[in-house]
Amino acid sequence: MRNSFYENTEVIGLIGQPVKQSYSPFIHNVAIELTKLNYIYLPFNVPSSNLGNALKGMNALGIKGFNVTIPHKVKILDYLNNLSEEAADTGAVNTVVNDHGKLTGYNTDVYGVLETLLPYKDEISGNRVTVVGSGGAARAAIYVLIRYFKPLKIHLVNRTEQRAESLRVYFRDKLKFDSFKTHELFPPDLVDLFSKSKLIINATPVGMYPDFDDNITSIPESFNKNQIAFDLVYNPVKTKFLQLAQSRGAIVLDGITMLVYQAAKSFYLWTGVEMPVTDLNKSLRLLISR
Ligand code: NAP
Repeated sequence: MRNSFYENTEVIGLIGQPVKQSYSPFIHNVAIELTKLNYIYLPFNVPSSNLGNALKGMNALGIKGFNVTIPHKVKILDYLNNLSEEAADTGAVNTVVNDHGKLTGYNTDVYGVLETLLPYKDEISGNRVTVVGSGGAARAAIYVLIRYFKPLKIHLVNRTEQRAESLRVYFRDKLKFDSFKTHELFPPDLVDLFSKSKLIINATPVGMYPDFDDNITSIPESFNKNQIAFDLVYNPVKTKFLQLAQSRGAIVLDGITMLVYQAAKSFYLWTGVEMPVTDLNKSLRLLISR
């Protein structure tokens, strides 16, 4: 092997804490392999206290770009030179592109949600939807709903109602959308709320590995055959939430499609090359179901 074998290899990666549970290194390195690009994707464990230093180091090392995960998705906005429209509107960044020291932030979770829901646009538009959760992922989901689907009303349910209320005010001011109602988890009328919603989104980690048996509702009457249930959790692929919704005849959408599409958008931003999403979707399902 020549010494200069890695001379032109571009480095991309992920910063967050923790990062060891992430599937992003798998997704991107398989995509690199399939597209025969000279890139490598590496996870970097970066605590909040070191975010500024990490960004300086990445600049100095010429790292081409990186994903951003918990706990940096909001804080990183303070360090960036530019924001894409959806990053500015959601107030959260999960992808940074380094263009010779100029850092631009994007929110590709938005594209993940959009690609997952787009086939159901006609069903969702003009109807009532419920989102459970008020963290970063809920932010991306709500942004997509308001911007692209124009639902009649969004019901936002969260364990800490104050956080849901802050999100309501944020989107009212940012996108001039005020057809929102917030609820504390679990409102006594949760079954009624769910059963009257065309779309129900779980944007909490409830039901995620290793707590497979947890569910935001275990009452079968929450679901019916006229609904769509979308779980952002991707491990397990078929959560208890989706199992119950499916048993009642609802259309179910798992978190894998979103995960692959958000990755595909990031990959394209860094490399200018399309990720082979069908292959990645299959590989990831196999890996997680093992
Ligand atoms: P986050 O910012 O930490 O927010 C978590 C939200 O879930 C908060 O609203 C929190 O409520 C609520 N929550 C947490 N534990 C709960 C519990 N035991 N019971 C009830 N509510 C609970 O996390 P996030 O980034 O939004 O991620 C949420 C989920 O989406 C995670 O499972 C993540 O893996 C998934 N996700 C998937 C994708 C994908 O591509 N498929 C992308 C991003 C995220 P409080 O406000 O009360 O704390």
